[in-house]
Amino acid sequence: PSVPALEALQHADVARMLPLPAAESDKYRRGVVGVVAGSARYPGAAVLAVAGALRGGAGAVRYVGPGAAAVIARFPECLVSTGRPGEAGRVQSWVVGPGIGEMREGVREVLASDVPVLVDADGLRLLEASEVRDRTAPTLLTPHAGEAAALLGCAREEVEAGRLAAARELAARYGATVLLKGSTTLVAAPDGGRSPVRVNPMGTPWLATAGSGDVLSGLAGSLLAAGLGARDAGSAAAYLHGLAARLASARGVPLTAQEVAAALPAAWRGVR
Ligand code: AMP
Ligand code: MG
Repeated sequence: PSVPALEALQHADVARMLPLPAAESDKYRRGVVGVVAGSARYPGAAVLAVAGALRGGAGAVRYVGPGAAAVIARFPECLVSTGRPGEAGRVQSWVVGPGIGEMREGVREVLASDVPVLVDADGLRLLEASEVRDRTAPTLLTPHAGEAAALLGCAREEVEAGRLAAARELAARYGATVLLKGSTTLVAAPDGGRSPVRVNPMGTPWLATAGSGDVLSGLAGSLLAAGLGARDAGSAAAYLHGLAARLASARGVPLTAQEVAAALPAAWRGVR
């Protein structure tokens, strides 16, 4: 039987994916997500990625990096340290990349771990393909078109002209699930086309605002820690992120990334 190339993500699909804590859960069983984000140059990325992670259903968020002071000032719920990910305590998933500048070691250490990893933004520029291909646990790459073009070694226009092919090609080359961001977000699994590429219908151009991608990364990483597979974590996160933005903008009000994060609980409620 032939598999359709695309599958529109439905509300009911997302409702099924979202975790509910079991009665006997504790915060560790609900999952700890580690976040490696931010730098002296981009301090806000740390705060926004953690904001997304705190709304994603993991039991705890552990931030590791130079933004620890800013993160703890904003979010006393977050466990923080200024060291390196390789020295941090156990996590069930890592998010690495938003605003990290040139922190190559952080990317290397996280990719060497045996837990699911989401790589975004600067992390996509710093990774080496073999570090992703050789992983034993799932990897979720979350490029926008420009970042996807850099990974593929082609022009951004080529990605824009063939987004489905680009997402599939990236997934195949890296052996990773690929969430290709844009006006419609695609999620492609590294299974050689056996499963359809998911299309997220729940976007809004108000999401085209600085820092909104960082919130998405934290959110999807948190869902990975809560136990979702990379394909479900990416698609559920894209859906919730888009719904949050729609709710917060009410289709007519410009949004900031912080406001998208603040609307995530309403988006969860909308999907339940
Ligand atoms: P980034 O490119 O990392 O800043 O992330 C931007 C976020 O906004 C991603 O989740 C995109 O999918 C979303 N986004 C950007 N432009 C649009 C658009 N025109 N319509 C819907 N979503 C968008
Ligand atoms: Mg980005």
